[in-house]
Amino acid sequence: MKVKFLGVGEAFDETLPNTSILVRSDAQTTPAEAGGSGSILLDCGFTAPPQFWKNFPDPDFLDALWISHFHGDHFFGIPALLTRFWESGRRRPFLIAGQEGVEEAVPAVVRLAYPSILEKFAFELRFLAVRPGETARAAGMSLRCAQTGHSQKDMALRLDEGDKSVFYSGDGPPTDATLDLARGCGLVVHEAFRLDREIGGHGNIAGCVDFARKARAGALAVVHVQRDERRQRQREIRDFLGSVRDLRAFMPEPGEEFEV
Ligand SMILES: [Zn+2]
Repeated sequence: MKVKFLGVGEAFDETLPNTSILVRSDAQTTPAEAGGSGSILLDCGFTAPPQFWKNFPDPDFLDALWISHFHGDHFFGIPALLTRFWESGRRRPFLIAGQEGVEEAVPAVVRLAYPSILEKFAFELRFLAVRPGETARAAGMSLRCAQTGHSQKDMALRLDEGDKSVFYSGDGPPTDATLDLARGCGLVVHEAFRLDREIGGHGNIAGCVDFARKARAGALAVVHVQRDERRQRQREIRDFLGSVRDLRAFMPEPGEEFEV
């Protein structure tokens, strides 16, 4: 599985685009669905679409989108993403997966942005609600989810393809359920708002390292770090992550890639 960090920022960072990650399955081990690229985008906030367009201009490239929860920095990019698909002549169906309610929340935000655009789309929009305990499939991968401790209901996602796996927290500190979900993953991508301070509704970097160790993950990528903390404590954060010996822990930059 190939992972590309398109955006790694928090909601209101003036330099880093909102956290948005492209995961591509290895078509050699699991054939993608007919005509598909085996690719899923994880979250699409206000500032994510330009990052996606710069990297993947083909309107038919992306198979699916996962939305962790319904805060603006995770799903307000959808009207732009879909409308550009339409402008650029997308034909293939597009799947949007997330927690229960995704099939109402997404059309609502698209209608608010462009009231009659949904009726014009020449491609079919499909929705997939995934509940904890269920296994769904999208983009040649299996999907499972578990709720984090965020201020709004947020679903962490686990993607599996063969013996490869990626975990993505969305927002919120770990829970017993997300630890179970993350067990043995090749890569854990976790949001961490602060280096070591506890903050309600979010994780911190020290807690994420602890989480990834307990889950026996192969690697940990921390994203969504609070903008001032990331700037002012950059050296301290990188030194801390570099000192982790039992797994590879890093704070990716936009555009960075990782192979699981
Ligand atoms: Zn949030």
